[in-house]
Amino acid sequence: MGRVTFLGRVFDGTRTEAFTIGGGLRGAGLVGIAVFFACLFGIYTRPVDFLATVWPANAVMLGLLLRMPRPVSPWVWVAGTAGFLAADFLTGSTVFKALLLSGANLAGIAGAYFVLHRVPIRAIQLRTPDSTLVLVLAIAAGSFLAGLVGAVANPLLFGGSAMGGWTFWFVTEFANYVAILPVVLTASLPLSRFRHWPARPVRYAAPAVALALSCLAAVTIGGPGAVAFPVPALLWGALIYPRFVTALLTLIFSFWTLLALSAGYLPDTIDLANERDLISIRLGMSLIALAPIMLASVMTRQAELLYRLRHLAAHDQLSGLFNRMAFRDAAEIRLKDVRDQGAPVALLMIDIDHFKAINDGYGHAAGDAVIAAVAGRAAACLRPLDVIGRIGGEEFAILLPDCTRSQALAIAERIRQVVAEAPVTTRRGKPLDITISVGLACSGDGLIDLDALLHEADGALYSAKTLGRNRAETSKEADKRRGGQE
Ligand code: GH3
Ligand code: MG
Ligand code: MG
Repeated sequence: MGRVTFLGRVFDGTRTEAFTIGGGLRGAGLVGIAVFFACLFGIYTRPVDFLATVWPANAVMLGLLLRMPRPVSPWVWVAGTAGFLAADFLTGSTVFKALLLSGANLAGIAGAYFVLHRVPIRAIQLRTPDSTLVLVLAIAAGSFLAGLVGAVANPLLFGGSAMGGWTFWFVTEFANYVAILPVVLTASLPLSRFRHWPARPVRYAAPAVALALSCLAAVTIGGPGAVAFPVPALLWGALIYPRFVTALLTLIFSFWTLLALSAGYLPDTIDLANERDLISIRLGMSLIALAPIMLASVMTRQAELLYRLRHLAAHDQLSGLFNRMAFRDAAEIRLKDVRDQGAPVALLMIDIDHFKAINDGYGHAAGDAVIAAVAGRAAACLRPLDVIGRIGGEEFAILLPDCTRSQALAIAERIRQVVAEAPVTTRRGKPLDITISVGLACSGDGLIDLDALLHEADGALYSAKTLGRNRAETSKEADKRRGGQE
């Protein structure tokens, strides 16, 4: 029950996502180093024209800030600023230019962080349907502020207009944040989600292959519609892949397309000399990139809901064990393995002794506490491959794969002792001495049918009750049958 599949996407409900990274001085060090190298990457890949400006530093710093425990230490901001300045100085920038450009970067990060640091962590993790909207608003706010610094910087540094500076900075920041921030927010290390090889590798690979093919078709056919060719493949991927993979594919798509445009691989699409075209295409690309991110968030939400519903449907609330139906399902799966391996199997049926008297004497709540305690103690005696369920009011069944009759008897005896040796403390504080009776069935004469095992264990449980309770018994008829054969 640990994993569910939803529209081909595997959701592992048992996985706890390691989202938060360390804050404090260690976090500051991480941010400083990450910003420094991200800046160097941006500076050295800065192409001749501005269309494909890849500037990951701001999204990286914002993403790391959002993954830190709140409130974020001021040292993190100091380290980030140092990272920006160090990269600028190292690559020969003047003090004035370095301060102005870093100021624009930090203004954008601060603006977006100001909006996002109050948002619930689930939205930051892109797990809610409105995550994308929140993200876009925050990114727009940050880009707006960066644009204001750009409006000052453009005339001073590049001799351009203030309006041109604002537009250029806004669009560039916006596009970079949209492409890179989702990757930083959804990356999880170690990549534990990839420990399961997909059940259907061909189906799993199909959206990625389709994306590659549609990108190829885009450069082959070209024209103004070409940038939209990969959209269906991206959306298909968002239905199937985890958010991180979707974010990564979207990032690759965004930058690949921008590079293809600036390198002229997408023929006749835009006029590279026309600034309005460039701005339009960059914004258009960013808005396309939002669609798969939004879909992936919605899918995550749906998969989580489905997981919770399935969990509720399969588990008994009081004991936390499988309910009757889920026990049967899980036991049948184990029995199939047992049959394939030709291994022995045993089944225990447990019933609490004189339980009605507990309900009558101490109330239903005390009875409930006893059921939960017995369930917990029994489950603690089992191996991971054993299957335990609450199959009736105060009755439990346990399937023990790969267990001989004597091993199963030993386990039954152990559970009986563990229940009997310590009283159960109810909420009213009254300790109650509890005993259980256990009936045992085993696969002796080829008995590997679940109903037959349950029937035999039920008979054995009846024997245990009639022989005085607080004991584990095997079925007398089965023993006789076996005795006759042996
Ligand atoms: P025996 O030793 O022969 O098993 O006697 P017993 O009193 O335990 O008899 P039985 O197994 O028939 O009793 C089952 C009782 O369990 C009847 C029912 O009122 C009670 N019961 C069933 N479900 C629940 C539950 O969820 N909570 C509580 N408190 N009681 C329950
Ligand atoms: Mg009973
Ligand atoms: Mg009972």
